[in-house]
Amino acid sequence: MVRILSLSELENFPSLEWDQIAPRMTCASCTALERVLGRQDGGGLSRDECLLLANAEGYDLLGLLIAADTLRCELAGNLVTYVVNRNINFTNVCFVGCKFCAFSRGPRESDAYFLSLEQVARKAVEAWELGATEVCIQGGLPHGLPPFYYRDILRAVKNAVPRMHIHAFSPMEAWIRSPEQRRKSSTTTFASFSRATSCRRNNGNRSFVRLIAAALAVLPR
Ligand code: SF4
Repeated sequence: MVRILSLSELENFPSLEWDQIAPRMTCASCTALERVLGRQDGGGLSRDECLLLANAEGYDLLGLLIAADTLRCELAGNLVTYVVNRNINFTNVCFVGCKFCAFSRGPRESDAYFLSLEQVARKAVEAWELGATEVCIQGGLPHGLPPFYYRDILRAVKNAVPRMHIHAFSPMEAWIRSPEQRRKSSTTTFASFSRATSCRRNNGNRSFVRLIAAALAVLPR
């Protein structure tokens, strides 16, 4: 049975070394993380290993924290940097209602909104003029978006500000617009996806992590 870690154990993970935690981890998690640490690259993890780590508990979760912190230290050091960015939430209409965010609205609520491509582009221009180099773009999940709407958002921003870095779309947005899902009814498929990840029943980061893991598992390669 997996031991549930206390809050203080989680908060104090930086006081531990990899060699202290590795012998307590399960073999599969330890092997996957040792490979990442050895190569200084998580790109070689298999899909099953990603899911395993996304669901890590107990000592495996501590090991994951330590490995991530070790890698961060090796690759980026302790110098903290930042980018100036602007969030552009192009719509707050969402049929999911997973409660992870505080901004989603039903389509008929009085404060529901949907920005046009021109408005999105204008916000990107405003951000650039104020010194931002990145826009984060994410919306709710409304029904009936045109098939290539996300592409059109990216084009609108790049046409308006070619040098703007775009950090866009949630795993759920990527999943719902994947070619496989576009061929099906998004409502039906999302319902099964939602059940599989319990996102309607559980709020908070834990269910969101599982949701991301499930999204990664079904995304086309
Ligand atoms: S799917 Fe996204 S936009 Fe919709 S409620 Fe959840 S976090 Fe909010």
